[in-house]
Amino acid sequence: MGSKCSVSAGATGPARADSGLPAGTADGLEFTGQTDWVDCAEEDAELELELDDGPLTTVEAEAFALDVLARAGWCGDAVPVFVFDVAADDWRAGWCDGSAIHLHSQLARRWVVLHELAHWLRPMDGHEPELCGVLVGLVRAGLGEEAADRLLDAYRYFDSEVDLTWAAA
Ligand SMILES: [Zn+2]
Repeated sequence: MGSKCSVSAGATGPARADSGLPAGTADGLEFTGQTDWVDCAEEDAELELELDDGPLTTVEAEAFALDVLARAGWCGDAVPVFVFDVAADDWRAGWCDGSAIHLHSQLARRWVVLHELAHWLRPMDGHEPELCGVLVGLVRAGLGEEAADRLLDAYRYFDSEVDLTWAAA
């Protein structure tokens, strides 16, 4: 089944990539699989990119999403619906329920929109290699080649598998 996925409020914590992690642990946490490492990789890549997005409005999030979907070659009849209903004190910046993308009004940034768009496109995939590949393609379309390369480097660093056949433009 698809996971009820989320992106952490994140981007302000320490960069875990600098800590020289032994396999399986980070910051004293037991990490059990791809999802944890994918989270780490994406947080790390976002920090490095210093995107410095202000919170997006609904109109901005929708316009960004539609532009990215078109550029990345995901043309279809369906368009994502954004709902700004993540509670103010929630640790999540966003999540996708399979049809709507839910965002935190203060934490809605392009990186979060891209991650949740990947879930919206691949609602059954959790953080599997296919979803990571989709996200690489969306990041390339929305934030450029260098950003996509950073994300790929971070996935590699954190041993996250990526199926790049899903990243093709
Ligand atoms: Zn996710």
